[in-house]
Amino acid sequence: MAIAGRSNAGKSSAINALTARKALARTSKQPGRTRLLNFFELAPQARLVDLPGYGYAEGAREERDQWGELIAALLLRDSLRGVMLVVDVRRGLLPPDEQLIAWAQQRQLRVHVLLAKADQLSGSAARQTLTRVEQRLASLSATPRASAQLFSAHAGTGLASARTWLDHCLARPAAVHEPTLNDS
Ligand code: GDP
Repeated sequence: MAIAGRSNAGKSSAINALTARKALARTSKQPGRTRLLNFFELAPQARLVDLPGYGYAEGAREERDQWGELIAALLLRDSLRGVMLVVDVRRGLLPPDEQLIAWAQQRQLRVHVLLAKADQLSGSAARQTLTRVEQRLASLSATPRASAQLFSAHAGTGLASARTWLDHCLARPAAVHEPTLNDS
């Protein structure tokens, strides 16, 4: 499972909230070393990969390309089941978010969008954004269709549904590269 999002969207807070139910090991965090990727053990055989936030590289084409290559390579891993995408509810889906969704869906990965910081909007404004994002996701006409929900790490909104999505996604077989009779 991978979790991605634009820098400052609320990804770290979402990871902390989502993984707080157990004392989780941050398996690749080593002092004195800068790591591009952090892995969190959700359960045996189930890891959450924290992808580097995007947005920081908006101005620098080279960095943006490097980021794109890294993400594209990660999305090719057969063990990857799905992508949770953290988006600031006040901004909604932006072009880099849609790019990531397109890559993930090309790989037939399941995608779930957390509209984070939902506590920053009134209930009706947050629901309006959710409806707009769901309509946009439906218009992408990929299967499986990407889903979305409101989320607030601070208020705890949507925590249970986000965990349910993670559990379902991890429990299902990988959608890609399943052997067929023709492969043998
Ligand atoms: P990241 O860069 O995507 O990992 O984002 P962070 O989790 O570090 O959060 C970026 C900023 O948004 C910080 O100032 C957080 O306190 C704030 N933030 C994160 N989650 C929430 C939330 O649920 N509600 C509110 N109001 N602020 C949040």
